[in-house]
Amino acid sequence: MLDPLVPPAGTETAPDERTEAARAEMVAGLESAGHLRPGPVREAFLAVRREVLMPQAYVRRSKPDETPPRWDLLDWGVPADREELLGLLYGGESVLIQHEGEPILGRVPGPRSGGSMDKRPVTSTRTQPVTEGDHPMTSPTPAVTTPRSGACQCGKIQFTVAGEPDYPHTCSCRDCQRLSGAPMMSWVSFPLDGLAWSGGEPSWHYTWPDSKRGFCPNCGSQVCALDDGATSIAVTLSALGNPPELVPVNQSFRENAVPWLPQVPDTRDRPHS
Ligand SMILES: [Zn+2]
Ligand SMILES: [Zn+2]
Repeated sequence: MLDPLVPPAGTETAPDERTEAARAEMVAGLESAGHLRPGPVREAFLAVRREVLMPQAYVRRSKPDETPPRWDLLDWGVPADREELLGLLYGGESVLIQHEGEPILGRVPGPRSGGSMDKRPVTSTRTQPVTEGDHPMTSPTPAVTTPRSGACQCGKIQFTVAGEPDYPHTCSCRDCQRLSGAPMMSWVSFPLDGLAWSGGEPSWHYTWPDSKRGFCPNCGSQVCALDDGATSIAVTLSALGNPPELVPVNQSFRENAVPWLPQVPDTRDRPHS
């Protein structure tokens, strides 16, 4: 394996021979495992830098026996993080990628404490389906439930969702704040195959290369969020009219929450978390 990369001083991206060698090694590994054939995908793997494939990763800050453990989420968009992030991405090891089942996408850089951390190989991050940490599908025996109806503020967008509601929660990430114009949004997921639009369908806005938000093009209401390839869709509790039985059990991106509003307590009762 290659040594951790130390980018030359004064360069932003450090696209030097060692990163090229690391990419060549990655491609050779995928080819020998039978996952990659000659063609445009292979060429892209050779051309695309890992810091583009994986712009965020965790680094452990605590000692092995320290509790609770501490991590920092490094972000390629933060210049001070770049050298250390490159070292992680080209170090040849799996990297820490997910804290406490949080979503892979749209995370806020900075420290985390306690909880559990998932790893994965650098090469698989954007080439396999993204784990839906924020909207897990946990219903082993989907119950037959009465369809629920939802709508935007003006009524142009209307929909029904059927199946077991999963993981009602709030989110105070920057995307939710900016899109809603509010301190947080509230979400619950349903099976995608139980969704039906009536009236118009929403317009879509990608907040990440493979994750989009659905909104009414007339009134602007935020209605839903959908990851490419996902089998469930998250809809806003507000579009559903805030059903009293769907009480948020957690709040995502607490570190980005406004300080002047109480946070939703973590009352999850999920067997896998
Ligand atoms: Zn509308
Ligand atoms: Zn959010």
